[in-house]
Amino acid sequence: MKTAHAQLEVHDRSQIDSDALKKLRAQLKGGLILPADPGYEAARRVYYWNPDTERGPALVARCANTDDVRYAVEFARRHGLEVAVRGGGYSHMGWGTSSGLVIDLAGLNRVTIDPNKHTGRVDAGLSSGEVMRLAGRYGLAPVLGECPGVGAAGLTLGGGLGWLSGLHGASCDNLLSARMVTADGRILSVDAESNPDLLWALRGAGANFGVTTSFECRLYSIGPVTLGNIFYPIREARPVLRLFRSLMAEAPDSFQAALNLTTGERGVFVRLCHAGEGAEAARLLRAFRTVATPAKDTVSRGEFAQLAGGVPTGGPDTSFRCVATVYRSELSDEVMDMVLDRFSEAPPETNIGIAHYMHGEVCRVASDSTAFPLRQSGGIHIRIGLDWKDSAEARRCMLWADEARKLLRPASGERIYANYQSYTGKGTAEAVFGSNYSRLVALKNKYDPTNFFRRNSNVEPRQA
Ligand SMILES: Cc1cc2nc3c(=O)[nH]c(=O)nc-3n(C[C@H](O)[C@H](O)[C@H](O)COP(=O)(O)OP(=O)(O)OC[C@H]3O[C@@H](n4cnc5c(N)ncnc54)[C@H](O)[C@@H]3O)c2cc1C
Repeated sequence: MKTAHAQLEVHDRSQIDSDALKKLRAQLKGGLILPADPGYEAARRVYYWNPDTERGPALVARCANTDDVRYAVEFARRHGLEVAVRGGGYSHMGWGTSSGLVIDLAGLNRVTIDPNKHTGRVDAGLSSGEVMRLAGRYGLAPVLGECPGVGAAGLTLGGGLGWLSGLHGASCDNLLSARMVTADGRILSVDAESNPDLLWALRGAGANFGVTTSFECRLYSIGPVTLGNIFYPIREARPVLRLFRSLMAEAPDSFQAALNLTTGERGVFVRLCHAGEGAEAARLLRAFRTVATPAKDTVSRGEFAQLAGGVPTGGPDTSFRCVATVYRSELSDEVMDMVLDRFSEAPPETNIGIAHYMHGEVCRVASDSTAFPLRQSGGIHIRIGLDWKDSAEARRCMLWADEARKLLRPASGERIYANYQSYTGKGTAEAVFGSNYSRLVALKNKYDPTNFFRRNSNVEPRQA
């Protein structure tokens, strides 16, 4: 993360000829937003809005179909504009906005569920929660993440870890096919028969190769689940953390939990989902309910689709946010001590979460069978999130988060989960893609040799 004093990057709009703009406006079914247009302020924002992510796009192309995306890609290429592809806008790096042209996919918003084949065809503008809710009407569930607002396509293209990953792998393991627009404006169908090399790459490094406009994924029949949150006073953080570690180390594939330390209610809470029979869930719950006296307990039996929440907001509000993330190969005593120590000095409105304890099916898939390689059992993802209302707080909050990340990162061999990448620099792409990196470079050379799509966990093309 850079300092909180980055200059706002604004494209020199005088380079764009007005006839071309008029033509683009007429072509786009979804609409075009320019800086002087109403709605521009909202259209340029992303979820993590802070001095490092803030951009003033020259144009925001609201795309309503694949042709709109193609027009936008061609326009950006002709005018040398940096492109940002925005699904849900939840990138930790703010990659969903740009000083050039934003391809906003929110208008691509249809889902078709095939209840016989147990598949869904999902447009790229849909949030995870919307897909969960619609699949739930057929008693089916997608393998998506744990936050309903996050873009379903964006999450899947970067790997995708969620409540069902122990049972059914990462989201990208369940990606069957996709439709995409490449940097040279071609519309490609990608599946196991057509462009299988791209299918492999889309499963974890997808943002690098083009704009996915829709994708097909597997769905699963999931019966009643046990789900909810258990809150404890902050003084119980250490025993709860220890219990979390020991239960997760032996967790059945059907169980996932995330632990959060939050300054808001000054407490620790566990979010959990057990997608299996009630007796096993009861055993795990008993342990969480007796390790300390819960301050609040919302866990009950319910439907998986309840995890989609109400109507996902999917959009940013007026506050500022930043996040710094660390992947650790295990939740050691040292890591626990550091997490508790950092939390004890955290600024107001801090949340430190430990999520996606790696176990089950997602770890059984070979790390080179998709572009998403981070599949070691026992791994954990730590997220240090801060929000603030007053822009003058930005520097203090962002530096604190970044320093906490640096303290928590491993002494050597740092790995990064693409979907949680929170900084860039030398070696970050290798840290994301590990031994899959060189294969991805070869594919980048083939499909995007000019690095047109670079606001992502970027694989840089290079000469062989
Ligand atoms: C609150 C929160 C909760 C989260 N929970 C989880 C979780 O449970 N599991 C998990 O695995 N991750 C989780 N994430 C991380 C999330 O998966 C990534 O941030 C993901 O990249 C967000 O996708 P998006 O479409 O919402 O974001 P965007 O910012 O719109 O896009 C993210 C990246 O993907 C690219 N992209 C998006 N859509 C497309 C497309 N259709 N074609 C090509 N490129 C595209 C963008 O260019 C950008 O590089 C969470 C993030 C947040 C902020």
